[in-house]
Amino acid sequence: METLDLNGNGVVASRIGLGTWAIGGWMWGGTDEAESIRTIQSAPDHGITLIDTAPVYGFGRSEEIVGKAVKQGGLRDKVALATKCALEWDAKERVARNATKNRILKEADDSLRRLGTDYIDLLQIHWPDPNVDMYETASAMATLREQGKIRAVGVSNFTPAQLDAFSEVATIDVVQNPYNLFERQIDEDVLPWAQAHDTRLLAYGALCRGLLSGRMHAGREFPGDDLRNNDPKFQQPRFDQYLAAVNELEQFAQDNYGKHVLDLAIRWVLDQYPHSVALWGARTPEQLEAVDNVWGWHLDEAARNQIKEIVDRHVVDPVGPEFMAPPARDV
Ligand code: NAP
Repeated sequence: METLDLNGNGVVASRIGLGTWAIGGWMWGGTDEAESIRTIQSAPDHGITLIDTAPVYGFGRSEEIVGKAVKQGGLRDKVALATKCALEWDAKERVARNATKNRILKEADDSLRRLGTDYIDLLQIHWPDPNVDMYETASAMATLREQGKIRAVGVSNFTPAQLDAFSEVATIDVVQNPYNLFERQIDEDVLPWAQAHDTRLLAYGALCRGLLSGRMHAGREFPGDDLRNNDPKFQQPRFDQYLAAVNELEQFAQDNYGKHVLDLAIRWVLDQYPHSVALWGARTPEQLEAVDNVWGWHLDEAARNQIKEIVDRHVVDPVGPEFMAPPARDV
């Protein structure tokens, strides 16, 4: 397992982090708590020492399950816990951005309670809030760091201009953005910013919500509120374009490395930027077994160019992950 110091200050993470959005159930068609706990507890067996969660994932459920798994497994000293703040929700589960100082300070305490810990290794602003001055948001995070409640500061889904504004008030240790070989929007903005500032990147959706797992097929049905029912990549005729690219990438991975497309997709994230961490959403221990295939080989520039050529040839009507963005509050 490759590791990374998240803030130059001793918060060390594996370069694959376990993503626990699906474990919260909401927008993923429900959750199985016992299976989720087994998944979280199996992560360190594969060298995974970073767990990423958020209050909004299941409206507290994901954090509670993570807290329970860590406590029952005696894992607190073995894993870094990353969570988020600055989204609110109401009784009807309507989500909106809220990065006011009061909200952030309250949420940090709620997360500490649900996670069953007295410090959070990494707290991230989940989405920027256009209704709140960046000074207020950033100073709330600086306060939490001074209080020792959090060890590293992250921001998610920020633009370079928002990153600059936040940085004037508080140091950004980590940026978290969507990044996978189908969703490369940050190549043009946030990744150059991270490179210039030596900032760590947590790449979310590394498997493009399962599309890059190699197990996805056109007849797959998604139960309940599973977000893939609304994800434009999973709607025809686009779905077939992405699946055709995955098929050829599978062949490419087998022919050149004796690996599978899932291994290739994660390796791609890690080799794009040496300070990246790939967040891998999993809800069963079996889904994490492939982690061991990611180490000990690399994609060089020629290979990465070939991967781009395969994707561009098949996906003639690409679309990004914008559908996931929550709205601002009505103020
Ligand atoms: P992802 O990691 O791209 O995909 C996760 C899905 O892929 C799983 O739920 C599973 O779906 C499938 N999968 C995983 N391993 C597999 C395997 N071995 N074989 C077959 N299928 C497999 O998507 P994600 O969960 O959206 O992203 C990862 C994490 O990033 C999240 O959990 C969260 O921590 C973070 N995230 C953050 C933000 C943000 O705004 N900051 C947004 C999105 C995500 P099925 O079980 O349904 O097949």
